Amino acid sequence: MQEIIKKYYQIREEIFSLTYAGWVLNFDHETNAPEGSLDTYSKAYESIYRLVYEKSYSPERLDLLKKIFQSDDSLIDEDLRCEVSKCLEDYEQTLAIPKEELIAYNVLLTKSESIWAQARQKSDFSIFEGCLQTIIDTKRKFLNYLAKPNLSGYDIYLDAYEKGLTTKDYDHFFDLIKKELVPFILKKVHNFKNVDHLFTKKTYPVAQQAQFSNYLAKVLGYDLTRGEIRQSVHPFTSGITSKDTRITTRFLPHNFESNIFSTMHEMGHAIFEQQINPAFDGTILHSVTNMALHESQSRFLENIIGRGQSFWIAHYPQLIKVFKNLKSISMEDFLTYINTPKLSKIRIEADEFTYPLHVLVRYEIEKVIFSTDIKASQLPKLWNDLYLKYLGVEITNDQEGILQDIHWAGGSFGYFPTYALGSAFASQFYQALAREIDVEKALKENNYSIISKWLKEHIHQFGASKNSKEIILGACGENFNPQYYLDYLKGKFH
Ligand SMILES: [Zn+2]
Repeated sequence: MQEIIKKYYQIREEIFSLTYAGWVLNFDHETNAPEGSLDTYSKAYESIYRLVYEKSYSPERLDLLKKIFQSDDSLIDEDLRCEVSKCLEDYEQTLAIPKEELIAYNVLLTKSESIWAQARQKSDFSIFEGCLQTIIDTKRKFLNYLAKPNLSGYDIYLDAYEKGLTTKDYDHFFDLIKKELVPFILKKVHNFKNVDHLFTKKTYPVAQQAQFSNYLAKVLGYDLTRGEIRQSVHPFTSGITSKDTRITTRFLPHNFESNIFSTMHEMGHAIFEQQINPAFDGTILHSVTNMALHESQSRFLENIIGRGQSFWIAHYPQLIKVFKNLKSISMEDFLTYINTPKLSKIRIEADEFTYPLHVLVRYEIEKVIFSTDIKASQLPKLWNDLYLKYLGVEITNDQEGILQDIHWAGGSFGYFPTYALGSAFASQFYQALAREIDVEKALKENNYSIISKWLKEHIHQFGASKNSKEIILGACGENFNPQYYLDYLKGKFH
């Protein structure tokens, strides 16, 4: 068995090294590569992807995995057993799709995000339409390969991002949102004091925004010796090991809070990955499989911590020190500004209160995509209709409509619903945390590390070795309960 395990580790390392090279290339392409390098990048990526594929799904590796899986040798500890079982699952799923089709699809994705970015910049959906149609056709076709007796259609993609959850679970969750939250929101949203004019007419230089991002990294414990902050149109986190987890942010000249909250959001993701057990580096157990859980960590930091008074008691002095033109503005007005609910058009700038409605729109569209033969060309109208229905806003151009998110350009269907669920998990984690730690006191005293330590012990360290249900039960002592989320929102925006 020792020899078998040794050989398995050797192949694992080779696969990881190649994956790492592809990952670095991809991150470079997504952030600061010159536009003209797209074809070169795409070809190089394809070559690396082919090598990874061949090594990962070789008969030799499959044989090793099976031998380890079937053995009861004492050399195989719990983590290795879990890893091998996940690899075998991945084997089964990946090989269900014909190799050349999978490679062609991944090559398509190397270009689709650039096409989306162009379309978005010109606010012209027709530039992206053909590409989106191909992605949708491919994803529909893959469903035929991936179907199992107990899992089919859109549920397959929902399950891929959050294991064990299907339309039945999400429908139940979104029905609660529609029944309890939508009427509450529509009644309350116009009652809030609007202080926007104090902030939106000012200009916030990029250098100041970057300075404040670095300050946030320091106080929140996002370790920049194992991470990096770059710029991109759509902020994201890209992590591969606990020693290399990078984020991007964006700088809008009149909207400094977009930078603050997207940075905090991504740092929530990144701190999660930096705190995964380092023994999982280079293995499937470091990979991100529970997206709602991941999203709970970003939204916890962005909203529950970042939009709360206690956090700003500690950090408002630094904010007005960096952004000098905010000096005459009170912290109370700032808190009102960052917590005013609005029926708006852009998801990533939405307030906590109306956010789940933005997700609801996308969830309903994805359900239609995988249960009917709707064409990509019909989606902008559906998008605009649903925004009018749930948020009461009229979308007048594609940039602030269907082109605002990168996800579908990356083939990520089934991902959006995890966002709303992540917020709900976050509320439940906060309650569990608050039973053990005086959270607000820790925040006022600029002691986020005590909170981060709790998150590491109860959530982060496990990586993909546990699923969300197990982690929630372990951290909270009970199963997932969406009522915490509804109570939190109603309490905050009463
Ligand atoms: Zn996120």
